[in-house]
Amino acid sequence: MNFIERESEVFFHTYKRFPLNIERGEGVYLFTKDGTRYLDIFAGLGVNALGYSHPKIIKAIHEQSGKYLHLSNYFLQEPQIQLAEVLTKLSGYPKVFFSNSGTEAIEGAMKLSRKWGSSKGKTEIVSFSNAFHGRTFGALSLMDNEKYKNGYEPFLQNCTSIEFNNGEQLRATVTETTLAVILEFIQGEGGVRPATQAFVNELKLLQEKFNFLVIADEIQAGLGRTGRVFSFQHYDIQPDVVVVAKPLGGGLPLGAILGNEKVAEIFTPGVHGTTFGGNPVACAAGLGTLREIFENGMMTNADTVGAHFKSELLKMKGEFPSLIKEVRGIGLMLGVELTFDGEPIVTAMREKRILINCTAQTVLRFLPPLIIQEQHVTETVSALREVLSSMSIL
Ligand SMILES: *Cc1c(COP(=O)(O)O)cnc(C)c1O
Repeated sequence: MNFIERESEVFFHTYKRFPLNIERGEGVYLFTKDGTRYLDIFAGLGVNALGYSHPKIIKAIHEQSGKYLHLSNYFLQEPQIQLAEVLTKLSGYPKVFFSNSGTEAIEGAMKLSRKWGSSKGKTEIVSFSNAFHGRTFGALSLMDNEKYKNGYEPFLQNCTSIEFNNGEQLRATVTETTLAVILEFIQGEGGVRPATQAFVNELKLLQEKFNFLVIADEIQAGLGRTGRVFSFQHYDIQPDVVVVAKPLGGGLPLGAILGNEKVAEIFTPGVHGTTFGGNPVACAAGLGTLREIFENGMMTNADTVGAHFKSELLKMKGEFPSLIKEVRGIGLMLGVELTFDGEPIVTAMREKRILINCTAQTVLRFLPPLIIQEQHVTETVSALREVLSSMSIL
């Protein structure tokens, strides 16, 4: 049996995997066992913010793993405290809870807001179409896409999903009993869709009127990818709770909930917890990662290279008006909506040794490591141009 057959034999068939046998990664490149080099514009779905084998991350992991790999949250742990201090300083949010993953951080944020609302008669959580918040039942209860939900009913009650970027519908939905509104300010899996400023303005007005919590899911867009610490900072709003994960652990599993003063005292000993969350090795790797992003210029790089990338994609839209419907996104979170299924383009790009991904059927998604340089953008865009040219001839 070959590699692909062996995988198929032993796993539940939950993933459509790339047929590549990766041996190692370095910087923005992945290498297969047979020595082929791939440019990675995918970054482990946004996890690998510093690409592969970054010396600072390797060093941090090495040092911490020589001390202890795990103690449990009964113990005070230096790497956790350091990372939490960096996060609070960066974000201005005074409180942190560490989880293992994005979806767990979402569950934690839901529990935090439920507890906050329970003494106030607030029970309803509002979320939006095309949202993606994870795969656990709480997260799924906030999502409307049947692809993720079919057959798993029933979900949590008191969760309402309404149309994204529809301020009127939001106004008609929230009331005094609304406990939280949760959103990605730039939807990721849903097709790289930024919120409009008008919609966010409406949300802010309603937040002031009804005193619900705004929860920002920054798991994909947060921590420098859009050229700001958080994607909500492109808008004039201050969420109460912020959830981060993907790049937080530098490639090791780590998520976090950040909360403002409103919710700072809601969790008390024993009401929430985790065995593995805040793993010290992951925290040490995360600390190294955040230093590179925010102190050594990688967020600024995401901003400048991202702007260049987007302008190149917009040029291409002009060249292929019948194939490209829209170019969206901010910084290094970009999407190209096609007028047709994007999977064949992903495959054609892979044959040109460039890894991208397609989400929401028709949206090519570009989520490169933040260390990417202009030459890599040029390489990606020319390959895409060739692929689209060969299509438009057909
Ligand atoms: C990936 C993602 C999640 C889920 O994170 P997991 O670590 O896979 O549980 C939630 N929200 C957004 C916006 C994401 O991109």
